[in-house]
Amino acid sequence: MRLLLLGPPGAGKGTQAALLSEKFGVPHISTGDLFRNNIARETPLGLATKEYLEAGELVPAELTVEMTRNRLLEPDASNGFLLDGFPRTIVQADALASILAELGQGLDAVLEFRIDDDLVVRRMLARGRADDSETVIRHRLRIYHNETRPLLDHYADRTASVDAVGDVAAVHQRTLVSIGAS
Ligand code: AMP
Repeated sequence: MRLLLLGPPGAGKGTQAALLSEKFGVPHISTGDLFRNNIARETPLGLATKEYLEAGELVPAELTVEMTRNRLLEPDASNGFLLDGFPRTIVQADALASILAELGQGLDAVLEFRIDDDLVVRRMLARGRADDSETVIRHRLRIYHNETRPLLDHYADRTASVDAVGDVAAVHQRTLVSIGAS
């Protein structure tokens, strides 16, 4: 099971990924969590990326790709993974294709979580994370629409769309249906 989770910030990708990770026994790899963990530990990567996260900007591709590549090379990812928050650009998608080719692996499916921007803003303000001010959230949504949504065309042949509005269990059920695993 090698899945990508796409969707705007605040669509609940992380929550759904955690449920899928438990169900399928493959690691949930969130690049946002990896960055936040490095920032909390004040590693060189954390120090180099803190400002980007605070401003809601994308971290430069080289740093992001290297971090993700290292994570995908860890043994627990050899039988599958749920990649949450990567790729976010076509450049990153091309880098992922190279990494997977190097590993002799392929992607099974891409899940798109669909939700309206205004609902995202309301959800994220309620969540109250450090990078969750309304200005930063709107900025992140703009980046999502401009840079990340083109990936839906890029992966059109293997993308399933899930309505991300509703409670966690209902969205989980829809997700399983969309990948034929219910
Ligand atoms: P997330 O937890 O996925 O919403 O990511 C939080 C923040 O981490 C983003 O706003 C970016 O600053 C950074 N980030 C996470 N994934 C990526 C990525 N694939 N490319 C660049 N920046 C990223």
